[in-house]
Amino acid sequence: MLKAGEQPSDAPSDVSTEWLLTRLLLVDGKRAGWAKDYERAPLHDLGQKPETNELVDWIICACRKEGNDAPPCREDVISIYWAVCNNAFTLETLILRATFGSAFYAKAAYFNHSCDPNCLSLRMGGNMAIFAVKDIAKGEELTHSYLPSVQLLRSMSERANLLHFECKCPRCSLERSSTTSAAYITRDFPRQFALTNQGGAIGDFKMTCVIGSDDQIHGKGVTMLEACEDVLLERSLAALEVLDPCLQASYNCIMDQQPIQVDDIFRMVRLWHSAAISMWMTVSALEGPPWNSRVASRQLRDTATILLHVISGEQEEAFLEALSSLRMAYGETLDCIREDLAYLGVMNPEWQQRLSEAAVRLGS
Ligand SMILES: [Zn+2]
Repeated sequence: MLKAGEQPSDAPSDVSTEWLLTRLLLVDGKRAGWAKDYERAPLHDLGQKPETNELVDWIICACRKEGNDAPPCREDVISIYWAVCNNAFTLETLILRATFGSAFYAKAAYFNHSCDPNCLSLRMGGNMAIFAVKDIAKGEELTHSYLPSVQLLRSMSERANLLHFECKCPRCSLERSSTTSAAYITRDFPRQFALTNQGGAIGDFKMTCVIGSDDQIHGKGVTMLEACEDVLLERSLAALEVLDPCLQASYNCIMDQQPIQVDDIFRMVRLWHSAAISMWMTVSALEGPPWNSRVASRQLRDTATILLHVISGEQEEAFLEALSSLRMAYGETLDCIREDLAYLGVMNPEWQQRLSEAAVRLGS
C-alpha cells in the first residue's frame, strides 16, 4: 500500500498519476472488462509518445511480479488507461489544493463534463460528494467540470487542450459560434457562466490575487465579500471555500501543470497568507459587517497563519494564538489542516512535526 504522494520504487521518473492509477487497478487483479462501462475515448497523442511502450511494459511486469498468473495484455492496459484518463478524479489536499494523485470513483465517474456545470464535486474524506450549484430543472442532466473551476476561466481553445475529448457542452457550442471566446482570452469572464451568483465577484478576486497589487486585492476583496454575504452567513467554513479559487489560481499560475516542489508550496502559502490578511483587514474595516463574515475571515486568517508558520517557521507568536483559537472554536478546520500536512509530509516530514509539537505545547 502506498502512502498519498508516494510512488512505487520502480516507477519511471515523472510518471503521471493516471499511469500510476492504471498500474494499481491492474496489479490488484482487476481485468479490463469493467472498463467498457465507462467512457474510453482514445487519446490521440498516446501512440506518438515514446514512453507509452515503456509504461505499458512496466505495468505488465509489475502484474507478473505480484504473482498475477495471467497478466494483462497490452490492449487491457491501454483500455484501463483510457478509462482512467476519461473518468478519474484528481485528488487535491483540502486547503492548499496541492495535487497528490488520482482516484477512480465508480459511481461519480458517470457524471458528464460541462464547461458551464450545474454541480460541483467535492471530496469528503474518502468519498466523492456532488452538490448542485444552480437551480436544476426536472429532467435536466446533472453535470460537473472535469477541470478545476479556475480553468473554466480559460478560452474554449485553451480548455480544449486540457480535456481529453471534444467538448460539446452548450457553452462550448456558443463560443464556437460567436465572438464570446474573445472575452475569455482577455480574462473578462462573462457573468452568465459564473459557477454561482457569487462566481463573478470571486473570479475577479482570484485573478487579482495572482496578478494585482495589495491595494487591488483589498478593493476586489470588498466587492467579493459583499457579493458573498449570504454564503458567509450560512456556514463559517464558507470562508475557506470563498478563498479557494484564489488558491487554485495561485497554484495554477505558479505550477503551470508542473509537478509541485517544496519551494512552490512556500510561494503559494505566502500568496495565500497575504490574501487572507488582506481579507481580514477588509472585513474589519467594513461598517457593521455580518457577524459570520468576521468569524469566517478570522478563521481564514488563522488558517493561513498556521500554514505559514508550519511551512516556514515564521510568526511563532501569531501561530500559537491562531492554533489555540482554531482548536477551541473550529476543530474541523484544524482537521483539514492536519489532512493537508499529512499529504505534504510525504515531501517534508518536518511540517507535520512542527504542528504536532506546537499542539503538544498547547496541551491538546
Ligand atoms: Zn465545454
